[in-house]
Amino acid sequence: MLHIGCHLSSADGFEAMGKTALEIGADTFQFFTRNPRGSKAKEIDPQDAAALCRLLKEHHFAPIIAHAPYTLNPASAEAKTREFALLTMQDDLKRMEYVPGNLYNFHPGSHVGQGVEKGTQFIIELLNEILTPAQTTTVLLETMAGKGSEIGRSFDELKRILDGVKLNGKMGVCLDTCHVSDAGYDLTQLDQVIAAFDKQIGLKLLKAVHLNDSLNPPGAHKDRHAVIGGGKIGTETLSGVINHPALKNLPFCLETPNDLTGYAREIKLLRSLYK
Ligand code: FE
Ligand code: FE
Ligand code: ZN
Repeated sequence: MLHIGCHLSSADGFEAMGKTALEIGADTFQFFTRNPRGSKAKEIDPQDAAALCRLLKEHHFAPIIAHAPYTLNPASAEAKTREFALLTMQDDLKRMEYVPGNLYNFHPGSHVGQGVEKGTQFIIELLNEILTPAQTTTVLLETMAGKGSEIGRSFDELKRILDGVKLNGKMGVCLDTCHVSDAGYDLTQLDQVIAAFDKQIGLKLLKAVHLNDSLNPPGAHKDRHAVIGGGKIGTETLSGVINHPALKNLPFCLETPNDLTGYAREIKLLRSLYK
């Protein structure tokens, strides 16, 4: 069975997201842990979180994905910016334990001129500070498009981060189809891309896929998502992604420019393409 969902608003709380997901035919979803600008998070209502946990279990959801605010920069040259990322992510991980056993995805960050090496070191330091042996959440590095000075635009850059993390059993990777295409991986050659991932990172670390089309051709480094079939990757190639033997059991999450009706339509389409 295809595990698929989309990005949902967390404005009405946890259980509301579960109910919305069911309404649009999803069995996973993603949400921002807080306002994407990274401001203070709403207090968690333990009963609301418990209600979501019951719903997820009852309807056999795949793991759900919390997304860190994309404005955080764990690789910043500024100590204050790194500290803010650290405190925010540490708090998010504490909150994630209200919905145990799920995924927490973040953008590794941008080195803003100081170099990949230095930025990578900062990301590793942050992870080694916030990961705890007791946590049940798996933290995912997202593959990035390579816009500006983004780190994580190649499997090798992600591997270098993973290699420095002490509690690496708590880590994984989320592959974003728009981002990897923009980074220069040609998804029409999917077997090769997956072989490269396996060689450089290891397929068992791949825990989720962001399923997006891209407005731009491979290697564009732009990061502009398109609806499924509305971009340069195309429906056929994305159908190949959900059906690939190495990927087909992962949770897929749409981050396409859509309202809920559009998401429901894409989920239906992708379910019909799943073999
Ligand atoms: Fe993202
Ligand atoms: Fe993404
Ligand atoms: Zn993106």
